[in-house]
Amino acid sequence: MAHDDILTTAIDADGVATITWDVAERPMNVFSDAAISAFGAAVEALADDESVTGVVIASAKPVFHAGADLVMVQTLFEQSPQQLFDLLMRVCAMFRRLETCGKPVAAAINGHALGGGFEMALAAHARFVADDPKIKLGLPEARLGLMPSFGGTQRLARLIGYQKAVPDMAQGKTYAPQDARKLGTVTDIVPPDELLDRARAWVLSGPEPVQPWDKKGVRPVVPSPGFTQFFSAVSAGGSAETWGVYPAPRLIADAVYHGIQMPIDPALRLEIRRFIELVRDPSSKAMVRTNFFAMKDAAALVRRPTTPPETKLTTIGIIGAGLMGAGIAHAAASGARNVVLIDINQDAAERGKASVQALLDKQVARGRMETAARDAVLERIVPGTDYAALSDCDLVIEAVFEDAGLKHTILSAAEAAMPETAVLASNTSTIPIVQLASVLGRPERFLGLHFFSPVDKMPLVEIIRGAATSDSTLAAGFDLAKLLRKTPIAVNDGRGFYTTRVVKTYMLEGMALLGEGVTPALIENAGRLAGMPMGPLRLVDMVNIDLVDRIDAQTEADLGTAHRVHPGILVARRMVREQARIGEKASAGFYDHADGAARLWPGLQDVFPEADVQPTLDQTTERLMLAQAVEALRCFDDGIVETASDADVGSILGWGFAPQTGGVASYIDHIGPAHLLARCQALESSVGPWFAPSSTLKTLAETGGTLHVA
Ligand code: NAD
Repeated sequence: MAHDDILTTAIDADGVATITWDVAERPMNVFSDAAISAFGAAVEALADDESVTGVVIASAKPVFHAGADLVMVQTLFEQSPQQLFDLLMRVCAMFRRLETCGKPVAAAINGHALGGGFEMALAAHARFVADDPKIKLGLPEARLGLMPSFGGTQRLARLIGYQKAVPDMAQGKTYAPQDARKLGTVTDIVPPDELLDRARAWVLSGPEPVQPWDKKGVRPVVPSPGFTQFFSAVSAGGSAETWGVYPAPRLIADAVYHGIQMPIDPALRLEIRRFIELVRDPSSKAMVRTNFFAMKDAAALVRRPTTPPETKLTTIGIIGAGLMGAGIAHAAASGARNVVLIDINQDAAERGKASVQALLDKQVARGRMETAARDAVLERIVPGTDYAALSDCDLVIEAVFEDAGLKHTILSAAEAAMPETAVLASNTSTIPIVQLASVLGRPERFLGLHFFSPVDKMPLVEIIRGAATSDSTLAAGFDLAKLLRKTPIAVNDGRGFYTTRVVKTYMLEGMALLGEGVTPALIENAGRLAGMPMGPLRLVDMVNIDLVDRIDAQTEADLGTAHRVHPGILVARRMVREQARIGEKASAGFYDHADGAARLWPGLQDVFPEADVQPTLDQTTERLMLAQAVEALRCFDDGIVETASDADVGSILGWGFAPQTGGVASYIDHIGPAHLLARCQALESSVGPWFAPSSTLKTLAETGGTLHVA
């Protein structure tokens, strides 16, 4: 039949039709304009065919359905509201036809069902899912800056209740089958090889082919006090995860609030209107550009030099089996690489391997890994102290303490022990690569690979090119990132590189505000309300105040009189040196930390008395955010960052820069360089010289340019 490059339909002797998705030349089934037509035509034909008794929707690919394809998402922002409305109404009508055709419809979900793919499954009367804990089901659109628009907000809220549906959709949560069943979105979980038969048997069992929302006598929700209370909490930004700054969660809540007070058909149209409103919001476009396209491009290694084609990375050496070294060892061994894990003594190296085992044990306990696979990963890690074991390594990365002298010793010893062709890397977060390379005989084979903590959760790696780093060395860094399933950004050398340098300004500004007598709660809330994952003082505590103090002391020692002491550092010094409150590791910093909770330390007001006149929330937020924006622009001045995409991806994945902005470069473009320049000039004179506009900012403001081109 037509469209068989997208899906096929087969009708068996009992009249059960199976629509099997199998989009040609795509790794996953996706909705494109053609796929919408294909599915619509198949539904229409089956609904009209009297010999058809029921329908099973299946997939011939390992993924059931991944929702809208790249082109569809890309063109969302180019279409007129009317074009978008027409397109989404086509999908809406097709799903309505499916669920109201009078024949039972079951989705046989053999793999991930996400976004529009899950919305298609919600338009079926039953959902059978293969028993595989790796399968993910749900509506993750909000994580990209979007919201469901194929009826998902209305069907999910009616199926599991608005109380569960709104927070789940607002956070873009996805579920493994067992959890989805508990939630109420899955009819049954069945052995994978019985999936189609079970779905078919259900269709033949004569179920009533009517959705809960189409049943006779079902009435829209009439607001109760609980209903009103729930939605007022949501609209007040009550969800601690989102703090009310993202447009998608707000519009999802709005679509559900109004939608469930009306019958399904007008409710579905309402969802479409809210979706159109969302894509017209610039933050949605910026989020999609970063979270969808730039991250995909980064993971596809667009910034990798094109030669050599591939680096042989069979054995990885790691020196320093602490927090970072063990994390990298876990990732490398999980990627089927042999790992030589070296520390100062055998016990320390074994401890590193034991922490890898602890991570793997968690994966086993969650059903995500077999014990045999865990044992195979562990077997690949050989802990020890002897550098001779590096003689087989293709790449060696050091992750010892952040001390330039120690790193010099370690790197020289590693270079002497490893093959001449192998690549050497440092996981330093601040020390310039050129400074570390000064002791090496082969600086062209050396680069920075800055991983983030905890390595198993943080997706970013900042790849730092030193002055002497060759293209093939850089390429090896990208290849390692891919092997470890990390998203790489490429930056040039300079103290703190990009991410450490910019996030530091957020912390310094927060501490400077405290030093000026601004109420700590105001500082922290201003950060959170701007969309940062935590307030600046909370972040300093997490990094630990003594580390911030020590890094500054090291910088001062390296730079001498060229080093300007930021007022924020004076606050850190007082906390460490006068108050002996060094941060979270000692349970005492700007916060008191106990039992996993953190409360602002009441003693702060004695050390930093509150000023009589306090800034407004907006003024406080502006300082916290513009301090980062202006430093990011200086990274462009200094050639540390070369592309707006790297700046965005690095800021979102590296330090969680207000994700609703799409990243710091998108944020700068959104404010507009001319306006930002004026604000920086004002802050330079009212607050301090660190707000001095960068030359990139001045040029953009003068030429009317933006960091993102087009
Ligand atoms: P850590 O203290 O957890 O581990 C350091 C390890 O180095 C320890 O196991 C120690 O025994 C070992 N070591 C010390 N001297 C050694 C020697 N002479 N020979 C062999 N091993 C030796 O530190 P960490 O947090 O893993 O940080 C390591 C590096 O990673 C630092 O450069 C740090 O700046 C960087 N980094 C840390 C983070 C983070 O959040 N912790 C994030 C990114 C980068």
